[in-house]
Amino acid sequence: MRRPEPAHPTRTRPRLAVLAGAVAALALAGCTATGAGGAPDALPAVPVATADPASQDPSGAADGAGPDAPPRADGLDGVDADLAARFEAARAAAEAEGVELRVTSGKRTAEEQQRLVDDAVATRGVPEAYRWVLPPESSAHVQGLAVDVGPTEGAYWLAQHGLDFGLCQTYANEVWHFEKLPDGADACPEQHPDSSWGW
Ligand SMILES: [Zn+2]
Repeated sequence: MRRPEPAHPTRTRPRLAVLAGAVAALALAGCTATGAGGAPDALPAVPVATADPASQDPSGAADGAGPDAPPRADGLDGVDADLAARFEAARAAAEAEGVELRVTSGKRTAEEQQRLVDDAVATRGVPEAYRWVLPPESSAHVQGLAVDVGPTEGAYWLAQHGLDFGLCQTYANEVWHFEKLPDGADACPEQHPDSSWGW
């Protein structure tokens, strides 16, 4: 696995500033269903460990687990194998530092994603909802290429250390959402302010 050098110190300040804002938003909302940080994406969704394999995307878009793979109890069921391995490495490192890190939402079906969209639109209205959840066709979760992590302390830890494991925080307003460092890159892509780009 690629283990790029930690971000250059000059990148630390803006990243932390963004992080502080996101954490503040999380703290304000208390990770509940209401408030600035209560995005549908942030809800402690039940891991898909018990998902019916028949409901998985048969297209193979998520190469993490074939249709015959047994369900995983760690929230990584159906998640891209490389992403899962990177997360496992990060989780072990966090644990060694006494920080809990777990997946709160990984692979989603298109139907599950659409439900999140519908809920967000109902509770937040448009266009605010679009800042927090993507439609199924552009959601990395539906492709098995994203994990949401928790608890808040764990998300904060991963936002600081994720690059060491090839994991990047994708959205400035979602400290919990991580995707893979693109192949060949030695720094995480510039974060999207929020998910509204995907609509
Ligand atoms: Zn997410």
